[in-house]
Amino acid sequence: MMDKIQIAIDGPASAGKSTVAKIVANKLHFIYCDTGAMYRAVTYAAIKKNIKLDDDQALGELLKNIDIKFVPGKPEQRVFINEEEVTRAIRTPEITNNVSLVSAQPSVRKALTQRQQEIAAEGGIVMDGRDIGTTVLPNAQVKIFLVASVHERAVRRFKENQEKGIDTPLATLEKEIEERDYKDSHREISPLVKADDAILVDTTSLDIDGVVERILEIVKQNTKASENQ
Ligand code: C5P
Repeated sequence: MMDKIQIAIDGPASAGKSTVAKIVANKLHFIYCDTGAMYRAVTYAAIKKNIKLDDDQALGELLKNIDIKFVPGKPEQRVFINEEEVTRAIRTPEITNNVSLVSAQPSVRKALTQRQQEIAAEGGIVMDGRDIGTTVLPNAQVKIFLVASVHERAVRRFKENQEKGIDTPLATLEKEIEERDYKDSHREISPLVKADDAILVDTTSLDIDGVVERILEIVKQNTKASENQ
């Protein structure tokens, strides 16, 4: 039985983090936590309450009144804000294109980081996001940084969108992905950056199974290495 370690998976938008993180968690019988969904949920709640998306103080107040919960479900984990299910509602282009502004606000980062640290405290977790290896779980035993070319990521998002009936042109998706990466990498607090001790995995020419296999290999090597210490 695998020790209840913490596995951090970071990387830019649409690099395939959540897809592979879910599979890895399943295979190891670990919990999966999608931190991006938490930032998306706050963005959704703020828009609904007409809060300006860069009003740090108002967002801080909002966070005191919302509880973001994950509930196991098939085919996907369900997301709730208090009693309202927002699983689908947090995936619209409107949320995707506004979330980086909300996630740059200090009160939002502070509250969600704390919550994520609580969720991960017992270990046995795969957590994906932008700052997991650097800020949320700096002592995670395994840190992965997933990357892929902008074009490849836009093509993946395009296919996902088509299945959902969303019709954004590929060129627009490329632009949106680049913009979101820029904002996430250049914000002041916990920007998207590879932790020094994270292992870079380029998924451009790998399929999902290939990425999962590579990550499981890294997990195996790391846990062996710590047993020998
Ligand atoms: O992973 P996903 O694309 O759903 O993340 C949505 C947004 O949430 C990111 O673009 C980023 O602004 C924010 N985020 C973050 N820190 C994390 C996870 C997500 O700032 N750990």
